[in-house]
Amino acid sequence: MARVGPWGAALNEYDLLVIGAGPAGAAAALRGAAQGLRVALVDRHAFPRNKLCGGGVTGRARREAAALLGGTPPDALMEPRGHFEFYADGAPLGRIEGVPPVWMTTRVAFDAHLVEAALDAGAADFTGRPVAEIDPDVPAATLRDGTRLTAPLMVGADGATGVVARALHGAPPDPERLGFALEIEAPPAPDAGADAPVRIDFGAAAWGYGWSFPKSGSTTVGVGGVHARNPSMKAAMRDYLALLDIADEEARLQGAFLPFGHFHRRPGRGGVMLAGDAAGLVDPMTGEGIGHALASGRMAAEAAAQALCGGHPHRALRHYGKALRPMHRSLRYAIFLRHLVYGTRLRDGFISAFRRSGRLRYDYMRMLGGELEYDDIARRALARLPGLAARATAARLRPARS
Ligand SMILES: Cc1cc2nc3c(=O)[nH]c(=O)nc-3n(C[C@H](O)[C@H](O)[C@H](O)COP(=O)(O)OP(=O)(O)OC[C@H]3O[C@@H](n4cnc5c(N)ncnc54)[C@H](O)[C@@H]3O)c2cc1C
Repeated sequence: MARVGPWGAALNEYDLLVIGAGPAGAAAALRGAAQGLRVALVDRHAFPRNKLCGGGVTGRARREAAALLGGTPPDALMEPRGHFEFYADGAPLGRIEGVPPVWMTTRVAFDAHLVEAALDAGAADFTGRPVAEIDPDVPAATLRDGTRLTAPLMVGADGATGVVARALHGAPPDPERLGFALEIEAPPAPDAGADAPVRIDFGAAAWGYGWSFPKSGSTTVGVGGVHARNPSMKAAMRDYLALLDIADEEARLQGAFLPFGHFHRRPGRGGVMLAGDAAGLVDPMTGEGIGHALASGRMAAEAAAQALCGGHPHRALRHYGKALRPMHRSLRYAIFLRHLVYGTRLRDGFISAFRRSGRLRYDYMRMLGGELEYDDIARRALARLPGLAARATAARLRPARS
């Protein structure tokens, strides 16, 4: 008779397969292992590995990481930045300080730290081993070296274009519904200390923005927005580099897709739960995805443990869907607000309000800091809608400045 483990799985199997070891997968593996599940953590790369990302960690994301790790991430991984400069179409909109900081990290170090914590917690290490095929009905993963891993439950955390979502939905994500971003690591600014400003440029890309994130080792500069609305993101990036007076670095340009406003309303199927970018959980206004990746990975592991403990693995997806509801609601509000911030009809009104209103800029930063929810902002925006529309009309009628 086959020997069985605590949840009825044969001993050569796991309780939970986690595919992808970015923030979502590492969080799922760490939380799953901490709850006593036998977890296999799979990634095509050995860690440390790089991942194209601005590395901006909001207060909300940092709190999630701290809860997972049992303490705030080491200072060496996180450089706080509390000064922000906003521009629109090259013109200054305002500077803010005294707001909740955003922390700057490098994904090489941040992700490696999380993976190490997951392995220390007891997850089995299958990093450096790409997945060749997923069978979502078992669920099972066949690695490129022929190893087959099975478990009653799987978390698909393999990013925006991963194989797990493809196995569930039968097709790669439609590039027209994704965001796309280009980035370079420019040399650090001479004054890249704690007071160095984080710079955000509305209008550097259509339905998106440009950013310059100062870190002690480099300045991460990028532009990103809705893919379908930016037929030449390279040209947008060239213009942005020229604006910032950075030599054209095309040879070192790197690009990546990210979900940008289209999350999977049903975050999985059967025994498979999708987390992080694989589930489309990126903020459609800011492109921030690390916090949602960490939170969704944790929730998927908690749903798995709850379902397995109750002896009903098939209930995991239901538990997970329920846990995700507040995040989905917040993303829906953000999709609504995106039309105010980036949509052509009201954008001018928003920009004009952002320039005049320190309160609006402050609220925007509090929202990034996790002190304000999109629901609150959407309610306030609705109240201001007539004013925004009037300002948008006035801005359009005003003669262009020479
Ligand atoms: C240019 C750019 C800038 C960004 N800047 C920010 C920012 O400043 N702040 C922020 O919060 N978010 C930012 N984001 C979004 C953020 O990077 C993502 O939301 C976040 O990485 C999602 O984490 P994840 O764990 O879901 O996926 P990922 O971090 O993409 O991890 C997925 C993992 O799956 C692995 N994998 C994929 N396929 C396979 C396979 N076949 N077999 C095995 N393993 C596989 C990959 O190797 C990878 O390690 C940015 C995104 C881009 C593109």
